[in-house]
Amino acid sequence: MMQSFEETAEAICAECGGRCCHEAHPPLSPARLAEFRARGVPISVAEFDGYTRMKSHDDGMCIMCSGGKCRVHAFKPETCVAGPFTFEVQDHTLHLFLKHESICPLVPYLKADGDAYAAQFRIAVKSLMALVRSLPWDELEVINRIPEPDTELVAEIPLGPGGAETE
Ligand code: SF4
Ligand code: SF4
Repeated sequence: MMQSFEETAEAICAECGGRCCHEAHPPLSPARLAEFRARGVPISVAEFDGYTRMKSHDDGMCIMCSGGKCRVHAFKPETCVAGPFTFEVQDHTLHLFLKHESICPLVPYLKADGDAYAAQFRIAVKSLMALVRSLPWDELEVINRIPEPDTELVAEIPLGPGGAETE
């Protein structure tokens, strides 16, 4: 029987062991922090360093990664949901980037399956829009400065009214 893309992705990520979770420090939106509280995740997993983010272990792995798996998979941070798409906000526009195949083994499979690509693109846009709209501009500016090498720009989406909070 043919595997669904979700099953394929799960297997690829398991084999990869969560490379994207190393030094990830995903932003934690107010909504995610509320979800953590509701589900009993200790708030000590979060820290503030220019923006509210997930801590990492001393070896750089995200504090929520255990044995290559995400312990908060069902309600993981918006940038984790959006992967392997990443983002930047410039001039009230959401810039979406796709990681290169060299750093994410899932990307070639995504590119080869138009339906899966479109589905994940929609999820990424929805998730990142929600994140961007929930963060203050000064925190977004810090996130914007985080280098994202080995990515390609795939879309530019105006934030429009109700976009990122500005000063
Ligand atoms: S999304 Fe890519 S980098 Fe992250 S665990 Fe999956 S295959 Fe690895
Ligand atoms: S929250 Fe989960 S998916 Fe996101 S970086 Fe941490 S372990 Fe990885």
